[in-house]
Amino acid sequence: MENFIVSARKYRPATFDTVVGQSSITSTLKNAIANNHLAQAYLFTGPRGVGKTTTARIFAKTINCLNIDLENNPENIEPCNQCESCQSFSNNSSFNIYELDAASNNSVDDIRQLVDQVRIPPQVGKYKIYIIDEVHMLSAQAFNAFLKTLEEPPAYVKFILATTERHKIIPTILSRCQVFNFSRITVGDMAKHLRYVAENENVIADDDSLHLIAEKADGALRDALSIFDQLVSFTSGNLTYKLAVDNLHVLDQAYFFKISDNILKGNISHVLLLLNDIIEKGFDGQHFIVGLGEHLRSLMISKDAATIDLMDTSQNIKDKYKEEAPKYSVSLLVKSLDLNNQCDLSYRASNNKRLLLELSLMQMCGLANAINNPEAEKKTLDLKKNEVSQSFLAELQVVTESLSNIPKPTIHTKQSVNTATTNNSPSENKINISEEKATYKAPVSQSIETTSPPTKRSTGRGFTSGMGLGFSLNQKEKTLKQEEDPQAYMFGKENVTDPVDPAKLKEIIDNFIINLHNQPSLKSVLLEEQPQMINESDIEFKLYNDSQAKDLSEHSEKLLMRLRTKLNNYSLRMKITIIKTAVYTAKGPKDKYDNMVKKNIHLQTLKEKLSLEIES
Ligand SMILES: [Zn+2]
Repeated sequence: MENFIVSARKYRPATFDTVVGQSSITSTLKNAIANNHLAQAYLFTGPRGVGKTTTARIFAKTINCLNIDLENNPENIEPCNQCESCQSFSNNSSFNIYELDAASNNSVDDIRQLVDQVRIPPQVGKYKIYIIDEVHMLSAQAFNAFLKTLEEPPAYVKFILATTERHKIIPTILSRCQVFNFSRITVGDMAKHLRYVAENENVIADDDSLHLIAEKADGALRDALSIFDQLVSFTSGNLTYKLAVDNLHVLDQAYFFKISDNILKGNISHVLLLLNDIIEKGFDGQHFIVGLGEHLRSLMISKDAATIDLMDTSQNIKDKYKEEAPKYSVSLLVKSLDLNNQCDLSYRASNNKRLLLELSLMQMCGLANAINNPEAEKKTLDLKKNEVSQSFLAELQVVTESLSNIPKPTIHTKQSVNTATTNNSPSENKINISEEKATYKAPVSQSIETTSPPTKRSTGRGFTSGMGLGFSLNQKEKTLKQEEDPQAYMFGKENVTDPVDPAKLKEIIDNFIINLHNQPSLKSVLLEEQPQMINESDIEFKLYNDSQAKDLSEHSEKLLMRLRTKLNNYSLRMKITIIKTAVYTAKGPKDKYDNMVKKNIHLQTLKEKLSLEIES
């Protein structure tokens, strides 16, 4: 019986051009040889099975090959595999090339032995080459013993160090080497090489099976070739995708297509049955989630011809994705990917992993239903918002306290206001003296009144209004919809009621006041009457009139949200008290003027702009 040679050895590349998937490195090395610019030491890093040692051997063989003629044939930089040097190398009988596996020979003595050999010049060929594999395994002392030689080796010595773990190499070694980073071999490159091997071995194999092997090998060609050998013997040289899936214990792509198809239909029961089938076949849940994520991603990138090549798979499978992708909307795919990702992240910590998987799949089905039937979904969303705004308004109770001691400013002052207003720009017409109007019903003030009177309307939706805040519920709903959903921050926190720190409260309020650029009247009243806690959960805002209350109401939701979260007390409420006026006894026109300014800051601007003076 013929001796079986494993494919990884039999098809180990013997020339630079046959190295799989590392063309940039091999061409750089060939150029270095052609230009005679050889470094003293090289470090090849990269994952296992990507061709580091193979490339090192080819490099070693090439620089010693007797048939390389740089002067007459500088184009041909490949070992001839025929000369004495190449032959002895191929037979493992070369005295010029030493291979040391640092994983098993990592002591100081091993390195000393090597260093001793370095002193003897080569007998045949130009160079002595030392290939040290897994160099990161050398002990610290061995590294140090090696360093001196690495620093100043004889001209005929070349070192090629190889490692899978570059970060373990000490900087003093790194700095003395020319470093080459070997990348993972792509599935496409690997499948091509497998095809080459299959043809040479007279193995019948379909493209999908070779791609599957390449995917399973995860970038390592050596692994791909061993899997290939294994499958060839299992399947007696007739490799199909189906047989490969069965033997490699890989989840068949068809499952994912079925699952996504049922997600699209919103068919929860089918999806759960498919998942059950997969679990019963012994597949790990996390494995499934990762696979589903890749599948959804593939669908996503197949939607656009520009991104379809991001998929590292056979043309057959690409075509299948291309055909399926248009059925799925981008938003469904993005949201499903997000759910899938969340499931993946919480999988390890979950106590009921299967339920987590099922829940995620059900949510994906739900997504599809929502997208297919957007009207129904919109309705439920709107309903939620309404509930929120009602609960908010229920909390915003406005209590008016009228104080009996109302000062009686002279008509004279009011007249001066009137005159000024009628002669001025429209922006200053917004003086609201509705309070005076209510008190005196004087025709003078009637003419000044240019803003619409506050709407006194009972909303009948749990909103109690003492004086009428001058805004309707519709307005409230509109602003609420534009803002963040307050339910999100309140959810589950209703019971958090930390005691309120007055200093912190003041800080939040002050911060709020500073930003009130467009409501100077509200700003001044809040500066004057600092809002305070009047019991465990009510913060009292004392205001002078409806207009200020209206202004405040524009901010109340955000402010309340901020107060609750920053003070960590979710029972807090804002209580607005309208003080018709401050308790004071009018002494003269100056006092009266000051009092009016308190109520309406515009008056001060008016007085300054028109250079008015107060009677004394
Ligand atoms: Zn040769």
